Amino acid sequence: LFDDHLPSDLPEATLSDNARIVLAKRYLKKDEDGQPIEEPETMFWRVARTIAGADARYGASEAAVDELARQFYALMTTGVFEPNSPTLMNAGRPLGQLSACFVLPVDDALSNGRSGIYDTLKAMALVHQSGGGTGFSFSRLRPEGDNVRSTMGVASGPVSFMKLYDASTEVVKQGGTRRGANMGILRVDHPDIRNFIACKNDTSQVTNFNISVALTDEFMKAVKAGGSYDLLSPRNGSVVGQEDARQIFDLIVHGAWKTGEPGTFFIDRANEYNPVPSLGSYEATNPCGEQPLLAYDVCNLGSVNVGRFVKLDAPSDLPPEDRIDWDELRRVVHLATHFLDNVIDANRYPLAEIHNLAHTIRRIGLGIMGWADLLVRLGIPYSSHEGVEMGRRVMRFINEESRNASERLAETRGVFPAWGPSIWGPDATCARRADGSRVRPMRALRNCNLTTVAPTGTISIFAGCSGGIEPLFAVAFMRNQAGSLMPDVNPDFVRIAQEQGWYSEELMERIATEGHIHFDEVPEDIQRVFVTAHDIAPEWHVRMQAAFQEHVDSAISKTTNFPNEATEDDVRAIYELAFDLDCKGVTVYRDGSRPMQVLSTGKTS
Ligand code: ADP
Repeated sequence: LFDDHLPSDLPEATLSDNARIVLAKRYLKKDEDGQPIEEPETMFWRVARTIAGADARYGASEAAVDELARQFYALMTTGVFEPNSPTLMNAGRPLGQLSACFVLPVDDALSNGRSGIYDTLKAMALVHQSGGGTGFSFSRLRPEGDNVRSTMGVASGPVSFMKLYDASTEVVKQGGTRRGANMGILRVDHPDIRNFIACKNDTSQVTNFNISVALTDEFMKAVKAGGSYDLLSPRNGSVVGQEDARQIFDLIVHGAWKTGEPGTFFIDRANEYNPVPSLGSYEATNPCGEQPLLAYDVCNLGSVNVGRFVKLDAPSDLPPEDRIDWDELRRVVHLATHFLDNVIDANRYPLAEIHNLAHTIRRIGLGIMGWADLLVRLGIPYSSHEGVEMGRRVMRFINEESRNASERLAETRGVFPAWGPSIWGPDATCARRADGSRVRPMRALRNCNLTTVAPTGTISIFAGCSGGIEPLFAVAFMRNQAGSLMPDVNPDFVRIAQEQGWYSEELMERIATEGHIHFDEVPEDIQRVFVTAHDIAPEWHVRMQAAFQEHVDSAISKTTNFPNEATEDDVRAIYELAFDLDCKGVTVYRDGSRPMQVLSTGKTS
């Protein structure tokens, strides 16, 4: 651990009051009485210095490390890039665990000393304590009612063990930071699938889990054709029953319509782009779904605030793409990729298996936030072909530049150790399609996986931007963050209203309390550009997600919002559209279908 004294010439961080409150509550170092003993600036310097310090392993001088730390500090304190929460909380501190996403295997044994149900339960507690989220597939567990030979008893099945993990998560509140979050996944061909789909129908159950059904291509084909599919024994893969595919799909759709769960994870689709198939298949995703991971896999995330790259002073008659500062975006993407590669080395992993895999494949998850802000600043509606096309364009650029940066790192640091047989390597034998074509062109990368889109739930508050690639939630709303309600009016909206001369405090108040902007004072084109999540037809949510997915290595955390009156058929159509458009998963939320909402408009809170 280094001396975290803050150089006096470093500028202050630009942070909103909200951001400072959240940082003080959960991120800053505290003394025994719970009083913060560092400033946000000290925290950012602690992180910058620790992560830059990894360069010393590759021969960087002290002066070069200091210079890099200053660049990292500038990115974070100006809200242009932020790493995921565990990096901010733990870098340069004794715990030293820097990643947000883990997947742990669960074997069909109470304990086998490594990955039995109770071994993994313990590992889960350690990951949660360090601020990470965990995903599990319970698909290897024998179904309820199956026999247990050693005791002549009967097995209680995957759902019962998921409830055990849920109860443990409830007990292990994370050391003053955040309580655990989990993803529970079951393959659609597991015999207990009906029980799993229904396990959150009662919204007071299994609250520390998001659940998703892993849907195979075979299942989706059976849904389209109206046929049945096989249920397989987790013990030996033998066929133990059959289900009508449409009936099961209807149950999933019903649950999603009623409570938002289960989500779906298109597991074969995800596995086609598994960068390291020789090391195993994707097992599950992290809690918010953006990271399909192998067993013992880990990912550290970081997100670039793309709204900041719009040149606000450029003439507004320039085409939108000419009002984006691509050169600066390239510089930031390269620096952010460098940052995340360093996080792998600076990290202290909770298990040896995780450490080893992380160093073998060097997976990182560079994402974006502030997407809705970028569109608003360019005057493009989210729900438009132009908006979707811009998404494709921006993400293609970021993905490509992140790979360029990773190649540059590989020149001095070497490719990731498992590169040879990976989808990027010369020996990609198990990464070819049926027709023999490569899934990806050969590239000498430092990292097996580069891009993702995370929800950026907390870090978007620090950066003062819209979350991930979600549309604006509201133009003015009350934000429920860590128990307190905080007011929030979109600053671009205020700026434009003032520039165009229709600003009034009374109007802003009306918008905040009514929860919409459909008033005569607000010009038509502005109403279209400031379109919010609930006003956007579900299809546009999915089309935007699919456009981003084309240029993202991992998956995307995205919620498709439905109005309260949406029907089950509406939800079914969206699930099918997401599959047809090559999304790796889909999550829906029908307004009012769940008792607790993280964000709420003035009207409902
Ligand atoms: P942040 O903005 O705090 O960095 P995100 O909202 O982008 O985090 O979530 C990224 C990932 O972090 C999630 O997919 C999940 O794996 C993990 N995560 C989020 N919230 C929690 C939590 N309360 N406990 C544990 N892990 C979490």
